[in-house]
Amino acid sequence: MSVDAEMLSRALCAVVRGEVRFDAGSRALYATDGSNYRQLPIGVIVPRDRGDVERAVAVCRAHGAPIFGRGGGTSLAGQCCNVAVVFDFSKYVNRVIEIDPERRLARVQPGTILDTLRHHAEPYGLTFGPDPATHTHCTLGGMIGNNSCGVHSVMAQFYGPGPRTSDNVESLEILTYDDARMTVSATSDEEFDAIVRRGGRRAEIYRELRRLRDHNVDRIRDGILNLPRRVSGYNLPALLPECGFNVAQALVGTESTCVLILEATVRLIPNPRARTLVVLGYPSVFDAADHVPRIMSHRPIGCEGMDDKLVNDIESIGYETDVMKILPEGQGFLLVEFGGASKEDADARAREMLADLEAHGNPPTHKLFDDPREEQKVWTVREAGLGATAHVDRDRPTWEGWEDSAVPPEKLGTYLRRFRALLEKHGLDDDLYGHFGQGCVHTRIDFDLETADGIRNYRAFVEEAADLVASLGGSLSGEHGDGQSRGELLPRMYGPELMAAFRRFKEIWDPEWKMNPGKVITPYRLDENLRLGTSYNPPALRTHFHYHNERGSFAKATLRCVGVGECRSLEGGTMCPSFRVTREEMHSTRGRARLLFEMLEGDPLRGGWQDERVKEALDLCLACKGCKGDCPVSVDMATYKAEFLSHYYEQHARPVTAYAFGLIHYWARLAALAPSLVNMVTQTPGVREIAKLASGTSLSRDIPAFAPFTFRQWFRRRMQRRNGGGDNRPSVILWPDTFNDHFHPHTAIAAVEVLERVGFRVSIPARPLCCGRPLYDYGMVDTAKAWLVDILQALAPAIDAGVPVIGLEPSCVAVFRDELTEILPANERATRLSRQTFTLGEFLDRNASRIALPKLHRKAIVHGHCHHRAIMKMDSERRVLDAMELDYELLDSGCCGMAGSFGFEREHYDVSRKVGELVLLPAVHHADESTLIVADGFSCREQIAQTTRRRAMHLAEVIALASKEGPEGHVERLPELRWVPDYAAAARQQGRTFFVATALTGLALGAYALYTVRRPQGRVEATK
Ligand SMILES: Cc1cc2nc3c(=O)[nH]c(=O)nc-3n(C[C@H](O)[C@H](O)[C@H](O)COP(=O)(O)OP(=O)(O)OC[C@H]3O[C@@H](n4cnc5c(N)ncnc54)[C@H](O)[C@@H]3O)c2cc1C
Repeated sequence: MSVDAEMLSRALCAVVRGEVRFDAGSRALYATDGSNYRQLPIGVIVPRDRGDVERAVAVCRAHGAPIFGRGGGTSLAGQCCNVAVVFDFSKYVNRVIEIDPERRLARVQPGTILDTLRHHAEPYGLTFGPDPATHTHCTLGGMIGNNSCGVHSVMAQFYGPGPRTSDNVESLEILTYDDARMTVSATSDEEFDAIVRRGGRRAEIYRELRRLRDHNVDRIRDGILNLPRRVSGYNLPALLPECGFNVAQALVGTESTCVLILEATVRLIPNPRARTLVVLGYPSVFDAADHVPRIMSHRPIGCEGMDDKLVNDIESIGYETDVMKILPEGQGFLLVEFGGASKEDADARAREMLADLEAHGNPPTHKLFDDPREEQKVWTVREAGLGATAHVDRDRPTWEGWEDSAVPPEKLGTYLRRFRALLEKHGLDDDLYGHFGQGCVHTRIDFDLETADGIRNYRAFVEEAADLVASLGGSLSGEHGDGQSRGELLPRMYGPELMAAFRRFKEIWDPEWKMNPGKVITPYRLDENLRLGTSYNPPALRTHFHYHNERGSFAKATLRCVGVGECRSLEGGTMCPSFRVTREEMHSTRGRARLLFEMLEGDPLRGGWQDERVKEALDLCLACKGCKGDCPVSVDMATYKAEFLSHYYEQHARPVTAYAFGLIHYWARLAALAPSLVNMVTQTPGVREIAKLASGTSLSRDIPAFAPFTFRQWFRRRMQRRNGGGDNRPSVILWPDTFNDHFHPHTAIAAVEVLERVGFRVSIPARPLCCGRPLYDYGMVDTAKAWLVDILQALAPAIDAGVPVIGLEPSCVAVFRDELTEILPANERATRLSRQTFTLGEFLDRNASRIALPKLHRKAIVHGHCHHRAIMKMDSERRVLDAMELDYELLDSGCCGMAGSFGFEREHYDVSRKVGELVLLPAVHHADESTLIVADGFSCREQIAQTTRRRAMHLAEVIALASKEGPEGHVERLPELRWVPDYAAAARQQGRTFFVATALTGLALGAYALYTVRRPQGRVEATK
């Protein structure tokens, strides 16, 4: 039955309180998950509550529309994309309803993120056992859908109810397509009888399930192996009498093909108070696998494996560095974690295992970790595997498709050796890693999914791999589920009779076959609906940026996102600030990357560079570069946004903010002629509101006041006074960026003092220059390029002489380190400048051996600018602050929310403020008065100044303070940032022209403001 999407959408709008989205953009946004597949959904529903779900399902049923649920959308087998109506539970239906510490149970809504549940359980010393690598953003509904596991499934196996999510589910509230709502769990005979007596649809389902089980009881016992990681197929063993006819557990892993989950009660397990990590090194990953059974006899809480190739690959892309150095010698590794009541206890268990391995000959090399930062590094490498290794070789990307098989742990070594041989036979390559303690192997393989031959080879390979797994008594999926990539292969593992039982199980729940059709049972072929496929042929586009990691191809850049969904995490790191406040897929890095991919596909998004849906998705991108730094595959959304906007505005008029903020360098230079006059306009109550309206600035923001003199003026006067030659100290160029030059000259002055005090001769460019940072936010890339070329000319002698350039504004340094070489890839001088530009922290750190930094025994909180974190990293800044003996905390505060001009803009103020409120602003509020607030970014300091009572200092000011005041130094009075109008002085200085100019400017701004406010403005909603 074909579905009339328009009628359906209208009917849904009439009953759903949440959001009903059937537009092209939303459909494109949900067309794929973390897998290789792409299917355009009919539409998307974002329910507000369970009532919404029930009403919407009834309407879909009336229109014959198939449906499925979605959480984080991180599935790797294609079970979360379909030609159906998507129910996205993640935005609103995401609460932990109750924790019952006595019974160790938690009640959750399906959209609850696993880490949110774990945070709620932590105060009771409890946790949820299975923990996918996606724990920061995967949902309980999705985990139940897939029957997820994870590193600590081993802990749940030894110290809890069992390794898989199914073992850890107590009961479920579910809804069937035909409107039966019920709570399901283990069912005693008495309960079964009572249910049947009551009659109705529930009785029919239970009766049929019992009949199905009784008819297949031996087949289920003999044919469905009791493996720790058997996730493929339906979980029929849960219906066996010895499992208590557990209908809830039987539904876990059905991947939306049977029911929708409305609520779950899950089991919690004790969380060990202390943990110890030992890494064992072996000559090969195969030798490591052979040792697994012995290691598991020591009952660790985690036992992961990886080969040296994974480590080398992750190092080669720079996602983590210096990992090999901290690992024991070897080419295959086991990461074995022990839990205990105390650190000594956990350490003792680890030593016991090491002694046992020692006693049994051929012991591995080992390292017992006691530095949490090193431990984190090792875990990051292991967890990043499935995402980060996608683009190691830019000509042969790697894919999921055979990323999740599992065999009995005692056969793991055999399996891996045969598996590697099979890869070689098919001319394929991979890294090997996974949950070795339970025989589960992960990998990404360099399948060719674009040519007919490549796709044939993919099919041939997975068919043989499936036979290999089946021959060893393993499971095609060890935790990711079957979806489409393994559904077709299930008969190789289970044979026809069990397949018939699975089919009957689905029919009992979903007689109309409307629940996620074509997945798991009677599936689509594993090589259809591929996101690429033989017809993939994106247009070759003219671009401003070079995309050297993608061999110059923007299309390849849009393929960089592999759907891991890390940008949907709610805490830690920077990515993705706009998602964190809106909880909208469209405002995540993944959502934007997917829409850019869809833009090139051309259906259903047909607007190309002019597509309004893509523009809308990019609008809330703060261009913080958080994704470039945090995303395992370094999706560079700030660059893609600048690229898109530059083409979009070829056919659209730019908004006034583009000229007001994008060209700030020009306005600032003009303002420098009469700063107090300009301040009179931007700071005087009444007039300043007109200035804000005219420039597109939010009325809730202050326009920063221009300083009475610029840094360049100060520097020139000082040079004239000194008039000295013969200075043979090494030279450095201090980069007077527009913001520190015109608004905060005291920062640059402090930097001059610091640099001179540690033995350098400071110079500045002979004429005003600007790196063009604000231009990128408005797609003014041609202008940015022209300004960069100008800089290269102006600084040519210094660049050629290798004079270091020191930038104070991290986002300007980031332009030289990042955008410069992307825009001028073949320019040797650009490459040089990129290499010889440093932040102040980096420069001092590089020269640490020959300079003495002053001590400062004060407390401080330090906020790293998002570009600083993403491009330059904070290591140097840390070392400088350590050398100063400052008692500081480097906040994990992500983006401050101001993000250049973003937070000043009227449409973005709300989101900007909320981003700031996530971590940074509360930390500043809670810091006591004597604690220094350190932030190098101009916009970060503005966000702090405009929303708290505190004033943040640049690193240069902190060092200057320590130099002047000594280690115990009090903060000297910080320069005033707010401008207090002094009309009399201004009139004296600038005479009658002052009043005439003010009046004229006021009139012009007033007229323009009136014009802009009457134009319709986009509105952006933010949750939380
Ligand atoms: C890099 C990477 C690493 C991974 N590592 C692991 C790992 O270590 N362990 C592991 O188990 N998995 C892993 N996965 C797979 C995946 O992240 C997990 O299975 C995760 O639990 C899925 O959660 P989700 O919220 O993203 O689910 P989704 O992908 O949104 O959905 C999963 C399934 O559940 C169904 N579903 C969602 N909500 C409902 C509902 N309310 N009612 C009915 N059905 C619903 C969906 O239809 C789908 O079939 C990994 C994935 C990636 C990309």
